[in-house]
Amino acid sequence: MPGQQLKIAIEKLKGSGVRITPQRQAILSFLIETMTHPTADEIYKMLETKFPNMSVATIYNNLKVFKDLGLIKELTYGDASSRFDANLQTHYHAICDRCGKIEDFYTENLSNVEQVAAKITGFKVASHRMEVYGTCRSCQLNH
Ligand code: ZN
Ligand code: MN
Repeated sequence: MPGQQLKIAIEKLKGSGVRITPQRQAILSFLIETMTHPTADEIYKMLETKFPNMSVATIYNNLKVFKDLGLIKELTYGDASSRFDANLQTHYHAICDRCGKIEDFYTENLSNVEQVAAKITGFKVASHRMEVYGTCRSCQLNH
């Protein structure tokens, strides 16, 4: 539930001595409610009318604070700008080659792959990531 997640996140910020400013709360709440995996620029565009004095640097600083506290995850895909995800459940992404949309999906956890990789390579495996690529529903309709 988004409201509950926001409440927990705010408690965690307070517990770490981070001051809750209206901007900070707006960025966090936008990230928790959105399904779009926005970039820092997209977050800025969504909030600039509400907070005309806020800079992109403020967004970046806040994203770093949230990330360091484990409230959001940063997704990097090659050269493109990082995207941010407040969905902390284990899930995977389907990425549209045409419009760049990133959609969540859930499947059985692939942690057994980590064990296989560790066994074969001798790595102490810390995490894994998996995404599928293709054409999203709306791009299939508008080709
Ligand atoms: Zn698409
Ligand atoms: Mn996601």
